[in-house]
Amino acid sequence: MAKKWNLVIDVSRCMDCNDCFLADKDEFTGNDFPPYSVAQPWSGHRWMNIMRTERGQYPLVQVAYRPTPCLHCDDAPCIAKSPAGTVFKREDGLVIIDPVKAKGHPEIVATCPYEVIYWNEEAQVAQKCTGCAHLIDEGWTDTRCSQVCPAEAIKLVFADDAEMAAKAAAEGLEVLRPELGAKPRVYYKDLYLFDKAFIAASLAFGDTDECAEGARVTVSETSGGAVVGEAVASNYGDFYVDKLVPGKEYGVTIEAPGYAPATRIINLDKSVNLGTIVLGRP
Ligand code: SF4
Repeated sequence: MAKKWNLVIDVSRCMDCNDCFLADKDEFTGNDFPPYSVAQPWSGHRWMNIMRTERGQYPLVQVAYRPTPCLHCDDAPCIAKSPAGTVFKREDGLVIIDPVKAKGHPEIVATCPYEVIYWNEEAQVAQKCTGCAHLIDEGWTDTRCSQVCPAEAIKLVFADDAEMAAKAAAEGLEVLRPELGAKPRVYYKDLYLFDKAFIAASLAFGDTDECAEGARVTVSETSGGAVVGEAVASNYGDFYVDKLVPGKEYGVTIEAPGYAPATRIINLDKSVNLGTIVLGRP
C-alpha cells in the first residue's frame, strides 16, 4: 500500500500563536510555485485558518483552537465537483488546484464543504493549502506550518492507509465531519475540546462553607441511563465532565459522604457552568 502524506493536529497543544498562519503567508505571499500555485494575495486568504471556540461561562471557561488547512481528502468533493482536470490528487495524497487550468473558475471555491478554498481576484484563480507540495518535491519532510509550530501541535506523517488507521485508533484521532465521506487526510487529536460540550460547576458544603473537594459527580444520559462521564471535585470544589454531545439531555448526580445527593437534569445546548451547588446534610 502506497504511503501518503497526512497531517496530525493536536487541538490540546495549539495556543493560537499564529506561527503556522504566518509561515504559510511567508511561504506563499508574493511567491509563485508552478505547477502548484501562484502567489497568495496579501490579504483575505487563510490557507491555514485557526478556528477559535470558547466553552462554558465565567469563571469555568475553556478556549480551544483548531488549525484548519485543506484536508487533502481522498474522496475530495472539490475534485468531484470542479471542472475536469482543474483539481487533482497527487499519488502522495496532496490535493492541488491547477493554477493554469483553474483560471477563471470561481465556482471551484464553493465545491469544498470545509470552506478552505479562496478566490484570488487579481490572478482570477481559486487557491488553497497545497500541502507545501513544492517543498515536499525537494525532499522536505515537514510543511512550513508543521516545521514552525513551537507547541508541536502539527505533525506531518508519511504513512499508508493501514498505518494511519492504526495510528488513529491508538491515539483517538478524528477527522472533521466524517459523515461527508470525503476521507480527509488531516487528523485531529483531542477534537472534543472544539466540538463537544462539558457540564461544570463549583461545589460547596453548606454547613462548613468549604469547597466540596472530593465530591463525586456522575453524568448519565436520561434516555437509557448510560453513565457517560464522571469527575471528582477539585480542591476549589470545581468539576468538569467533558466530551458530552450538544443537543442531548443529561442527568447529573453529585454525592459526598454525609451529605444529601444533589441532582440536576440538563438539556445540554452547549457547554454550561451550573454555578455554585451547595450540598446540605440529609
Ligand atoms: Fe478539496 Fe476541501 Fe477536501 Fe481540501 S478539504 S481536498 S479543498 S474538499
